[in-house]
Amino acid sequence: MIDLRSDTFTKPLPNMQKAMWAAEVGDDVFGEDPTINKLEAKAAEMFGMEAAVFCPSGTMTNQIAIKTHTVPGQEVICHEYSHVYNYEGGGIAFNSSCQVRPLAGPRGKLEPDTVAAALQNPLDHHAATSRLVVLENTTNKGGGACYDLEAIDGIRAITQEKGLGLHLDGARLWNALIATGQTPEDYGQRFDSISVCLSKGLGCPVGSLLLGSKDFIHQARFIRKKLGGAMRQAGYLAAAGIFALDHHIERLAEDHEKAQMLAKALEESPWIAKVEPVETNIIIFNVKEDRSIEEFNNALRSKGVLHIDMGQGKQRFVSHHDVSFEQIQTVVETLKNLA
Ligand SMILES: *Cc1c(COP(=O)(O)O)cnc(C)c1O
Repeated sequence: MIDLRSDTFTKPLPNMQKAMWAAEVGDDVFGEDPTINKLEAKAAEMFGMEAAVFCPSGTMTNQIAIKTHTVPGQEVICHEYSHVYNYEGGGIAFNSSCQVRPLAGPRGKLEPDTVAAALQNPLDHHAATSRLVVLENTTNKGGGACYDLEAIDGIRAITQEKGLGLHLDGARLWNALIATGQTPEDYGQRFDSISVCLSKGLGCPVGSLLLGSKDFIHQARFIRKKLGGAMRQAGYLAAAGIFALDHHIERLAEDHEKAQMLAKALEESPWIAKVEPVETNIIIFNVKEDRSIEEFNNALRSKGVLHIDMGQGKQRFVSHHDVSFEQIQTVVETLKNLA
């Protein structure tokens, strides 16, 4: 199989597995897992933030962050394509009893003017209080697009002036750092809280981190416990995270190279109406309306190529470590031969 459905399909490599089994572990609910403590401290230091907490998934780190920032009845501002709004099971309503104000913007990104225009008047008791802005970087449904720091600064100025929190869903922030040359500190300085995934392009089997101030992470641990996300000897998983932070970030450049190869082949195919600009490892494209999507999918399937339909005609390829350059070449040839 050539699995282009998601970078979540990456499996731990032998040397990561070795690091996992060698981990020193303890009961993390008692704060006694040295490997988890080490991973949390390492991540906090990378971002120049005070503290971090290890969680089973990026959905949980986002949901904990939103719960920690808000009280019921407030409003969370995010992009209409965002993961927190579309792909977390209605978690904002379920966990935080907040309402969502989804906004439009290019390629999954919010813009300062749109955010400013969406803020409720804090003195108007008819309105839900605007409390939190969530940005996503890279954008998922937006096609792996990256924010530039100026746009973030524009939004940051608004949240600071109005006293709102600013959370980053950085599930694939690593890809943005590699594509743009930005640093973790650039983000640590700008956000009140940041969620990052270890289980996507970085290749860990499980795990995400939530970063923030000491007080924020202290509160977040109460929520993690309530959600059942406090684990015991999970240092085996944290060891994979430490290994990934040390060895797998630079490697993402290869995934971006693979994505460019796929994008080029798609652009040259008479079957494809549109390929969105590729900045990282996500390729979103549309099959021409007068062509059959079934036929296109069957041609790919016959070569063992799997991908995802994102709705509204959007098809998605995601490149990652477990699809080799050779396999990418097979996909390129398959697209070429698709008459
Ligand atoms: C994958 C992803 C998450 C978290 O997903 P989990 O599967 O819960 O780890 C969050 N945000 C974005 C943008 C993602 O792509």
